[in-house]
Amino acid sequence: MHNINRRTFLYTGALLCCNSIPDFGSILFSDGCAEASVTDIRGTVFKRDAPETIWKWSCEGRYYTNILGDKTVCLLCPNKCVLSPGDRSVCRVRVNVKGKLYSLVYGNPCAVNVDPIEKKPLYHFKPGTPAFSIATTGCSFRCLNCQNWEISQAKPHEVRYMEMFPEQVVQNALRAKAVSIAYTYSEATVFYEYMMDTAKLAKDSGLSNLWISNGYINPEPLAALCGVLGAANVNLKAFSDEIYRKLNGGTLEPVLNTFKTLHEHKVHFEITNLVVPGYTDDDEMVKKMCGWILSTLGPDYPLHFSRFAPKYKLDRLPPTPVSTLTRFRNLAMKEGIRYVYVGNIPDHEGNHTYCHGCGKRLIERKGFFINRDGLDGDQCRYCKTRIPGVWI
Ligand code: SF4
Repeated sequence: MHNINRRTFLYTGALLCCNSIPDFGSILFSDGCAEASVTDIRGTVFKRDAPETIWKWSCEGRYYTNILGDKTVCLLCPNKCVLSPGDRSVCRVRVNVKGKLYSLVYGNPCAVNVDPIEKKPLYHFKPGTPAFSIATTGCSFRCLNCQNWEISQAKPHEVRYMEMFPEQVVQNALRAKAVSIAYTYSEATVFYEYMMDTAKLAKDSGLSNLWISNGYINPEPLAALCGVLGAANVNLKAFSDEIYRKLNGGTLEPVLNTFKTLHEHKVHFEITNLVVPGYTDDDEMVKKMCGWILSTLGPDYPLHFSRFAPKYKLDRLPPTPVSTLTRFRNLAMKEGIRYVYVGNIPDHEGNHTYCHGCGKRLIERKGFFINRDGLDGDQCRYCKTRIPGVWI
């Protein structure tokens, strides 16, 4: 548990000025008054839904504070869930039991696989290597188009799960000859304590840590995480707060802050933008997004435009037309971003890496088959331009 800082003091002070402490759902909606007309699908707290006692896979939260005695305020992500004893968080995996905030998923993954690192997607970090990948249930968002909603929108006991504590994750990753451990599939931030402890051990064992995330995390826990990260892929779901609220159930600014923090800490990261027809397929918005990336982060971070597939609550939308993805790739490169990819479309030229100096193809990707003959160390074999990334 953390000591309260000034910002939290002001926040909790504002709560105390309310008639009574409202549940978090009403805070979410009351602070969005400037956009009251926008449909807002952000999640709400599950009242009186916590187990009565903690269980085998419980771990006290590391970023929270108490208000009014036994209420907890989680400080891990911008949702800042306020829980009374017996309540469960927006992300479904954190509960207030007798005035303490607990994660329920420490050592309790529901998905474990060995994936090619390209699947994350990470194209400029140790290409062609296997990533031992884990997830628990839970997510801070409510994306209408979620690809993994069966686990992201589930409570821990509602899915098949297993036991794998941090030491076992690292041992299993080494046994599988993985080069990295990816915290992925659902939302890694909500299993922060499990991820952090695993990541520290992994780093000590020579493995890289990959954070695959919606980027919805507060600066303090993110700064601590940066110390153990090898790379990250963060979704920039839209360059519009309105779309974040109505498509994802989040807000834009904290995600932009996440990119700035990763950049400041010199963590290698790549950006994924899923192009959802009718929501995020807007040329002007993409142009603005590229402008922000260039002015704030520079031209070198890889940007992936991914194809939407009909899923979950948007199962009646068509897949993104290939022509839209091609147009966005061209637009982003014309704006000045050097490495722009197209995801989920086999045989598209946007799967490959081309030197930003001479334009020659350096890495060819066919599915998860990689030919990196155009690279010489971290340089273009032809013109010797240094290619941004980690290429061992
Ligand atoms: S991590 Fe979960 S409990 Fe904490 S603020 Fe975010 S949604 Fe709420």
